[in-house]
Amino acid sequence: MKKYLFSIFLIFLLVLSLGCANQKIPEDGRLIVYATIPPQKEMIEAVGGDKVNVGILIPQGSDPHTADLKPNQLVELSKAKVYFMVGSGIEFEVKSIGKIRDLNKNMLVVDSSKGIELIEMAEHDHEAEEETHIETEGGKDPHIWTSLRNGKIMVQNIYEGLVLLDPENKDYYMKNRDDYLNRIDEADNYIKNELKDMDNRSFMIFHPSWGYYAKDYNLTQIAIEVEGKEPTLQSLARVIEEAKKENLKTIFVSPGFSSKAAEIITKEIGGRTEVIDPLAENYLENLKITTDKIKKK
Ligand SMILES: [Zn+2]
Repeated sequence: MKKYLFSIFLIFLLVLSLGCANQKIPEDGRLIVYATIPPQKEMIEAVGGDKVNVGILIPQGSDPHTADLKPNQLVELSKAKVYFMVGSGIEFEVKSIGKIRDLNKNMLVVDSSKGIELIEMAEHDHEAEEETHIETEGGKDPHIWTSLRNGKIMVQNIYEGLVLLDPENKDYYMKNRDDYLNRIDEADNYIKNELKDMDNRSFMIFHPSWGYYAKDYNLTQIAIEVEGKEPTLQSLARVIEEAKKENLKTIFVSPGFSSKAAEIITKEIGGRTEVIDPLAENYLENLKITTDKIKKK
């Protein structure tokens, strides 16, 4: 009898806690929206305005190449109406998308990269090709958002997703989209103008996350990392030689990042490291800040 009462008590507790969990969902009429990386948050909030409540799965400072979906994120995702995946092959998404879809079958999943042409991951420079001609197998560059041209396509995909879910507010989303596209054009003009007279258009970076940006503005990204790993002594020597030849004094790194190889190179070339963040939440502002740093390299 005691045992029986205890079971009832447990069931009572469970029902109570489920009730509480449900109450956590904001009943303010806003759409609960999820995306993968912080730059998407600015885009979605720009288009969705006060109609959306945006959550991000890879917060600023964590690494989308190695991060895993956390159990509490699954709980949050079960409340979402739409998930805007980047869609360009980021490891985190490739690993998690099946789980995410299974969890919430009613959730719309939008591929933000629809219509964007992926480029090859820039791992090796032209000199390396002469020696061994190593190429990455199917290694497409997933960092599409560092290009404002791609950013515009992502914004259009976000707009279409929101209209599909909430057609009543189409005009509102459209106006917001157009305002934000104008802001993207302004940022693009700023960057073009900043970089137009730059003589040496190469920059050296540990993790090659700015390939699309480099392509847009006719810059050359020289990567130190090889397929996500520290370089070998041989490729290290080649990078140092290249840096000296191009007279580069700055190695760009991501926030919170430290690398033996980057240290060795800065010592060898008498240079320094400078942080640029491909995942900053202030997307447009951050692209301008990054441009200023690359210009001053
Ligand atoms: Zn990356």
